[in-house]
Amino acid sequence: SETGIPARPLRILALANQKGGVGKTTTAINLGTALAAIGEDVLVIDLDPQGNASTGLGIDRARRQISTYDLMAGEASLAQTVIPTAVPRLSIAPSTMDLLGLEMEMATAPDRAHRLRTALKSLGQSESLKRISYVLIDCPPSLNLLTINALAAADAVLVPLQCEFFALEGLSQLLRTVEQVRGALNPRLSIQGVVLTMFDPRNNLSNQVVADVRGFMGDKVYETMIPRNVRVSEAPSHGKPALLYDLKCAGSQAYLRLASEVIQREGRMPAAA
Ligand code: ADP
Ligand code: MG
Repeated sequence: SETGIPARPLRILALANQKGGVGKTTTAINLGTALAAIGEDVLVIDLDPQGNASTGLGIDRARRQISTYDLMAGEASLAQTVIPTAVPRLSIAPSTMDLLGLEMEMATAPDRAHRLRTALKSLGQSESLKRISYVLIDCPPSLNLLTINALAAADAVLVPLQCEFFALEGLSQLLRTVEQVRGALNPRLSIQGVVLTMFDPRNNLSNQVVADVRGFMGDKVYETMIPRNVRVSEAPSHGKPALLYDLKCAGSQAYLRLASEVIQREGRMPAAA
């Protein structure tokens, strides 16, 4: 490039799990912030009509005039949709409730599963977006057309899994969907990894779930587990990632370790190293 700094390869990761409340959004926000903190240029795409990633990153309604709805409807470009956050090197394509209607509107469109993939093609071309090295897609809690769009656009899936009794049951269904998307829409789709969230070492069930998931998924499970941490759950109400709200808390530190593992799995050095 003109600056002499070689462009880093772009990686698109979908944070998916059809169960709600497992830590997808928390991971999108805090893994995104951690990756940005170690020098990556990160874009979070909020694909959940609830807009929790947008809210948690401090984007108020007034700044969501152009949203992922417009992007997916083909009414706005990615460059028009992406806005900066308070975190350096972290930007977001925010969402609104409008996304709820999109599934119906797209239902008969032949390209309905590829809307996001098409929108993301402009990443390398746009001057403002071409530095981005990680895209994290925050999926809704469903295997609906929005999630299918995320899986069709992604290089890999990152699965947040809450350490609770039914964790594995949901995982099998998700893996079948990934398999189907790989066969029909996106042959290069892989599993980046499974991250265990809201881990509580004092809870026997939590430990049993960890053992089961590691037994089932082997080294696809990240070594880093995200502990249940009150600072992590407080941060969104302040419109901040946990890493800005309380960098020293155990949750923030875990997300920094997870970011290193994610980068290691891509087989590349951190940008700032
Ligand atoms: P999802 O996006 O999968 O629905 P969220 O990321 O919104 O899940 O998390 C669900 C709830 O759990 C939220 O209230 C969030 O603040 C809380 N939460 C997530 N991760 C943690 C954690 N490590 N410690 C404590 N609370 C957490
Ligand atoms: Mg969510």
